[in-house]
Amino acid sequence: MNTEPTPPPCSFQTGLRGRLASLKADGLYRQLRRLETAQGSRIQVDGQACLNFSSNDYLGLANDPLLTAAASQAMKEYGFGAGASRLICGSSAWHERLEQRLALFKGTESALTFSTGYAAAMGTIPALVGAADCVILDKLAHACLVDAARLSRAQLRVFPHNDLDKLNRLLAWAAGRRAAGKILVVTESVFSMDGDQAPLKEIVELKDRYGAWLMVDEAHATGLFGHRRQGLCAHLGIADRVEIQMGTLSKALGASGGFICGSRLLTELLINQARSFIFSTAPPPPAAAAAAAAVDFIASAEGAERCHRLWERIGQFLQGLRSLPAGERIRRGGPAGGMATFGESAIIPLILGEEQRALHMAGELRQHGFFIPAIRYPAVPRGQARLRVTLSANHTAEEVDRLLKCLGELDSSIAANP
Ligand SMILES: *Cc1c(COP(=O)(O)O)cnc(C)c1O
Repeated sequence: MNTEPTPPPCSFQTGLRGRLASLKADGLYRQLRRLETAQGSRIQVDGQACLNFSSNDYLGLANDPLLTAAASQAMKEYGFGAGASRLICGSSAWHERLEQRLALFKGTESALTFSTGYAAAMGTIPALVGAADCVILDKLAHACLVDAARLSRAQLRVFPHNDLDKLNRLLAWAAGRRAAGKILVVTESVFSMDGDQAPLKEIVELKDRYGAWLMVDEAHATGLFGHRRQGLCAHLGIADRVEIQMGTLSKALGASGGFICGSRLLTELLINQARSFIFSTAPPPPAAAAAAAAVDFIASAEGAERCHRLWERIGQFLQGLRSLPAGERIRRGGPAGGMATFGESAIIPLILGEEQRALHMAGELRQHGFFIPAIRYPAVPRGQARLRVTLSANHTAEEVDRLLKCLGELDSSIAANP
């Protein structure tokens, strides 16, 4: 008798094929596009020259000679690879320099860098809270914050986007639990897919009232707000009341990596307990050198000028958008939309709703030479697909006008198919 179980033929491949087919049917299939130039406002994608309105390189630093020169110099002295985790075979002087400059820049006692912003979140939240504790998250918080909170095994509670009443009620509930542990509130300062801001002053008051801690992800605010462009917390004058300030080096800073700024005890604890820091090879020293050059630039007078240019483009785009016949409706996105406010960051979502519709619009724009991919579930809720327009200081006024003109031409088709 044959006792060997016979596996269903190709069940693995068949299963994958089925899942991919259903993603395609739902308009949720994704594909890599080949970028054939450096990152910038003008790029070549899959053989086609495009104006790029999709990058988070807000200040145009990703391909700036300042950063590439710093990385080249560091590479000559330190080589490329880091060799091991920073706790194992020595921590590069460049990582230390970068962290000193970040702490100075943010006005905190200390800073700690990670290989990505994602890794910063994944290491930090589980290091700070555990099963006895509670994490309270904004509904639109970035995936890395959600994943990190889940990994921590703390009780999770979610408040509707920027809803202070609900946050208040959740804080009261968490503080009143019989075995009340620590409470960590987690939000972004500028939201990545909506471009709006969190009411941070009010959130700081609330969390202090209940003795909770606050972690703010400044991924899209670093480089854009504050008198030295440290972020929205600094701009609002509440940075010293935020226990954990998170950011990434890979957006306005144009480099690569993530960071946590706060007290010396916080970074000391993370060095000891953040698993994504401990069990992962240090980022290449040239990446730290490039990031350090970016921090210096952003805090400088030239950085101020670059940032000012970005805000001019944002103003220009918003003003142009307002004068489109269906402009208000594109932005508000009809019944599914209406949540975003505008002019609060370099991210301006044109909410279209249905996934296929956003894909269609992205295709049309692409044909006209604009690269603005459709953002869909799970990056945003189902039925709230959008074109996420991002502006860069490196866009010229003429390029922004060209995009407005093209949107104006497509506008009539939007108005015709609400
Ligand atoms: C991009 C992003 C991150 C992740 O940062 P990386 O350095 O790209 O890993 C974290 N939080 C938010 C809000 C982001 O938009």
